[in-house]
Amino acid sequence: MSDRTSIEWTDATWNPVRGCTKVSPGCKNCYAETFAERFRGVPGHPFENGFDLRLVPEKLREPLRWKTPRRVFVNSMSDLFHDLVPTHYIAAVGQMMREAYWHTYQVLTKRHERMHALLSGDLRWLASLPNVWFGASFNQYLQYRDDSELGPNMVQMVKEMWEQRQR
Ligand code: SF4
Repeated sequence: MSDRTSIEWTDATWNPVRGCTKVSPGCKNCYAETFAERFRGVPGHPFENGFDLRLVPEKLREPLRWKTPRRVFVNSMSDLFHDLVPTHYIAAVGQMMREAYWHTYQVLTKRHERMHALLSGDLRWLASLPNVWFGASFNQYLQYRDDSELGPNMVQMVKEMWEQRQR
């Protein structure tokens, strides 16, 4: 799949994880699932296993190849904070965001409890990276709009996306 995207608030997508499972009412019309399931059983296709979650370590270093700064939507086809993504792997994704520092990373999750627990615990260092924005999804916006515990970048990203949606 191309790293370029038509999503208006980002420049590129980066999927070091593929696949997910539904976790909230907001997942009902998941475009990623619809897309992935189209290719279940197609030998050699990135979504040969449909929307089953799998780690894609061979994709970890992809941002290093992009020389000009981009806004990068992390895991457009998954959720970085899914329970099946080990903490050490989330840390590896974070290390890459730190290494390829010239990009701005947009991490959007529907697993805000796990994100919150990790970013205020073992992965606190990841929350402090200035080039990484964390956001909970739209249907959790109201819950997060006054929450500054995870830093201003998260609040800013959710706010921008919310405002864009209202236009
Ligand atoms: S969390 Fe996101 S990727 Fe996962 S099922 Fe829900 S909408 Fe789809």
